Amino acid sequence: MIENLTVIGPGLIGGSLIRALKENNGVKNVTACSRNMNNLDKALKLGVIDTAIADTATAVREADIVVIATPVGAILEVFKTIKDQLKPQAVVTDVGSVKMSLIRELQAEYGDVPQFFVPAHPVAGTEKSGVEASFASLFADRKVILTPTANTDPDSLKRVRDMWEMTGAKVIEMDGEWHDIILSATSHLPHVLAYALVTQLSSMQESEDIFTLAAGGFRDFSRIASSDATMWRDICLSNTDKIREMLKSYQLQLAKMDKMLKEQDSEGLYKVFANAKKVRDAHFE
Ligand code: NAP
Repeated sequence: MIENLTVIGPGLIGGSLIRALKENNGVKNVTACSRNMNNLDKALKLGVIDTAIADTATAVREADIVVIATPVGAILEVFKTIKDQLKPQAVVTDVGSVKMSLIRELQAEYGDVPQFFVPAHPVAGTEKSGVEASFASLFADRKVILTPTANTDPDSLKRVRDMWEMTGAKVIEMDGEWHDIILSATSHLPHVLAYALVTQLSSMQESEDIFTLAAGGFRDFSRIASSDATMWRDICLSNTDKIREMLKSYQLQLAKMDKMLKEQDSEGLYKVFANAKKVRDAHFE
């Protein structure tokens, strides 16, 4: 059991982690910190956190594990603020959706990623944000990817692994570069596409009718465009090259389909649709 856990940014992910740990008797005391005291009050009222501390440096002084659950663009600054305030055996981890930008920033700042910092990313979430959207079962049977570096202390790695396993998640380890490639394909590209589609349709003259008459398919495809803008801006600015590569190959695929449409290529279109259905059905219910 974790004696003292501090979460910087108890929103959807940080709040869900705390709820899951509490439900599984995985943590005794939870302290949290974020920029806006109203958000911390909400977390206190919901019973998610036990103590709210406005000052980031003060919030981590008693912590055995610190989880930085802010948007990606804020992680380094938070880390710099807390680094010299920690107890000797404390472990720090994050939940950011991009790994290499932070790893490189830490290497540039400290010569290497500090041994007690374990880069992590729970591959679970929703399009909602804030502590009020958090729930204990978010990580059950979902994957959490740890991307340790050569400098990561094995004991710190184990403590972060143990923490996530207590939430019901399946923990895997992966190289940070590989993580960013895979996630650019499965998560970052689809979000960019959803944001682009909603933007395109909303700028059309017919947009009123388009959104009024939209059915389930559009709702499904566009759901992730409801995600938090700050979070997705940070992800796009942190994994830019890999997302652009994915976009480029997607554009090539779109161009092929446009050609099939232009040429009324019935067989070609059928093949693409049937194959995509086969691939999707093989991987999802
Ligand atoms: P969220 O619900 O918006 O929570 C973000 C939290 O960070 C809030 O408590 C916010 O509170 C705090 N915060 C923001 N900027 C801060 C700063 N500069 N200093 C201190 N606290 C700050 O977002 P989320 O969905 O939990 O996402 C958090 C992280 O998880 C992101 O790095 C994201 O990439 C990653 N992630 C998200 C998902 C997903 O599906 N949502 C899935 C996996 C990983 P204040 O506004 O009060 O500061």
